[in-house]
Amino acid sequence: MSVLDTLGRPVRSLRLSVTDRCNLRCHYCMPEDEYVWLPREDVLSFEETAQLADLFGQLGVDRIRLTGGEPLLRRNLPSLVAQLAERPWLSELTLTTNGVLLADAATELKAAGLHRITVSLDTVQPDRFTSLTRRDALPKVLAGIDAARRAGFVDLKIDSVITKGDNDDELGDLLEFGRSVGAEVRFIEYMDVGGATHWRPDAVFSRAAMLERLAGLYGPIEPLPSPASAPADRFQLPDGLAFGIIASTTQPFCRTCDRARLTADGVLLLCLYAQHGTDLRRPLRAGASRETLLNLLQAVWKGRADRGAEERRSVRDRGTYIPLRVLKKDAHLEMHTRGG
Ligand code: SAM
Ligand code: SF4
Ligand code: SF4
Repeated sequence: MSVLDTLGRPVRSLRLSVTDRCNLRCHYCMPEDEYVWLPREDVLSFEETAQLADLFGQLGVDRIRLTGGEPLLRRNLPSLVAQLAERPWLSELTLTTNGVLLADAATELKAAGLHRITVSLDTVQPDRFTSLTRRDALPKVLAGIDAARRAGFVDLKIDSVITKGDNDDELGDLLEFGRSVGAEVRFIEYMDVGGATHWRPDAVFSRAAMLERLAGLYGPIEPLPSPASAPADRFQLPDGLAFGIIASTTQPFCRTCDRARLTADGVLLLCLYAQHGTDLRRPLRAGASRETLLNLLQAVWKGRADRGAEERRSVRDRGTYIPLRVLKKDAHLEMHTRGG
């Protein structure tokens, strides 16, 4: 069954957040000292998660990315991976992680059937890592990347959020690190999503600035073809090394956005910028039939008109998207709850 939203977009990809907890405090995602967490009893069991995932599969989803918070903090994650991996409708099952706990998990994740891993890493300098994430954990992340390779994960990706004055001098070092571990690096523009309470326009290091910087370091950069619905535009250096740029802030790609997001407590969000979601946990736990839930999902997706990043781009005097006092009242507005 294929269902289109009001802009003619199908739902193909599901970002499944398995926890809102995290063991890092990245400055663009979790800059505050204190957070309000989702109540533990609201967090879906793996069986509930898989039940909801099947409904998305019926609507046309064939790719799932496990995310968080930090997904590897969720106990027994490989058991969810194993349950999802056997779904016949699923063609891609991937994980986005900060890598801190990956060294101990990689082999089990591979055995459970996980297809690919993306590690978020913004710097290869230990002191800078500590100041950007408030945790001294770079060695663990590097060990995690190494373990993932040894476990047999290929097509590793490294996602790096680049913020002006923090790590824009590391584009070349990050690319070279990616080359050394056989991972494709994707540079991500700083977004003013909920949670990014320190966002300001002049902290954004744009795609244009990235390309200019890299051309200065390496020489002419060539574009590479990429699928229309892929968020990253791909490029190659003169020596053939490929990399991506996700320009969500300066060149949003909402028109082709086929992603739905499910929080760990079962709230469906239609956009990273959505201020409200649809609670699927309550009807699920109240015993709603599969058909009722499917009709609900279908109706919600059909009504979708979201294009948050495009709308934000047209805001004049753009500052913090969601004020801190509002964020503090609803964990669902946070980036670490909706999963990126
Ligand atoms: N904790 C895991 C991780 O960091 O990979 C998964 C969840 S994290 C929310 C997913 C992605 O969102 C990460 O790659 C992170 O860099 C990105 N992200 C978080 N806040 C962001 C922001 N303000 N702008 C751009 N990307 C952001
Ligand atoms: Fe950083 Fe990911 Fe944790 Fe956010 S959820 S603080 S991006 S590691
Ligand atoms: Fe999709 Fe919303 Fe991101 Fe646009 S801002 S690409 S609609 S999630």
